[in-house]
Amino acid sequence: SVCWHVSHTRMFSVTKSSRTIMPAWVIDKYGSNDVLRFTRNAGFPVINYPNEVIVKVLSAGLNPLDVSMRDGYGAAALSMKRDPLNIKQSGSEFPLVLGRDASGVIMECGLDVKHFRERDEVWAAIPPWKQGSLAEFVVLSANEVSHKPKSLSHVEAAAVPYVATTAWSALVNTGGLNKDNCAKKRVLILGGSGGVGTFAIQMLKAWGAHVTVTCSQNAERFVRDLGADHVVDYTAGPVEEPLSSLEKFDLILDNVGGDTERWALNLLKPWCGAKFVTLITPFLQNIDSLGIADGMMQSAATGATKMLKHLVKGVHYRWGFFAPSGPALDEIREMVDAGQIRAVVEETFSFSQVPQAFEKMEKGHARGKTVVQIS
Ligand code: NDP
Repeated sequence: SVCWHVSHTRMFSVTKSSRTIMPAWVIDKYGSNDVLRFTRNAGFPVINYPNEVIVKVLSAGLNPLDVSMRDGYGAAALSMKRDPLNIKQSGSEFPLVLGRDASGVIMECGLDVKHFRERDEVWAAIPPWKQGSLAEFVVLSANEVSHKPKSLSHVEAAAVPYVATTAWSALVNTGGLNKDNCAKKRVLILGGSGGVGTFAIQMLKAWGAHVTVTCSQNAERFVRDLGADHVVDYTAGPVEEPLSSLEKFDLILDNVGGDTERWALNLLKPWCGAKFVTLITPFLQNIDSLGIADGMMQSAATGATKMLKHLVKGVHYRWGFFAPSGPALDEIREMVDAGQIRAVVEETFSFSQVPQAFEKMEKGHARGKTVVQIS
């Protein structure tokens, strides 16, 4: 099957463009901000499978994951995903391009691509095991890409896909919410002012849920403008006290982690199918520290123990994950173009300012998204 895979891959390894290099920000090893290196000689992406497209990136969005990946977080698990048969030498991921969000234009389509043509304007959330968007071009599967909302500029569009598909995966696929069942639901978002939170508030409000948000006091106006019905300031003291005096919730989306799961599940309505969905999971970290087999076993054991512990109290504990999805982005585009959701761009950097953009991300206290204009 390895031989088939290799020959099958070669059949489509012809990129129409005669270019072989492009400008990109890369890292050659993991570390702090000084590992970021600008090069004009990064390898030009190649279509290896007939369902792939090459996208010319006009704007790239950054996520906390980019800073963590620069530091080496997830390296073991992501290497396994890139090279499942473990054929390549360690370090073969370098030079690595970071950047998980892209908005741009299709430059070339593989032979089986039906829904896109050259010059189509698209947006995409790029899976962490693939080369990222801090480059002039990126190669993606057509099912990870979607036509960009017409009402957004490329800078705005690059602020949405990764956090939007994460919120979609957590709230819809894991949490079981959708536009038809939110009307009487009470949802609590722990950490409403960052990328995922600002998107989740708007999506849930568009679907008619009642949304309570925790954030810093200086973000209260900001999250209320996005539609939050009730806001609790976590800087004023432990949030569990004011939150426990409120009517109980049908779903909690946790963007904060730490000790939240010690108290937050008590805020759910028991025996009603209510769920706590946390985006802060030990999954990649376990693999980094214990290796693939033991790390996965450890994660499965931890997850199962927590699920059972809470199930006997009548509430559900779940881990939420980013999942690349062109179809989810198609639905999000409809909501954006209908004026139900807006992109929240906090700060824009030029392509030459990528290290400054990472510095900004590292300071935390995001109020929406950080975007890099590539061209
Ligand atoms: P951001 O950095 O954009 O936002 C985090 C926000 O949380 C900031 O606005 C911050 O502002 C606020 N905050 C910090 N501490 C608290 C607190 N104790 N209570 C309430 N708010 C707080 O991150 P994202 O929204 O992009 O991501 C959120 C988390 O989800 C990250 O940890 C990220 O790694 C994770 N994630 C996981 C994914 C997965 O696949 N499992 C996918 C995507 C994200 P301030 O400090 O000023 O209050």
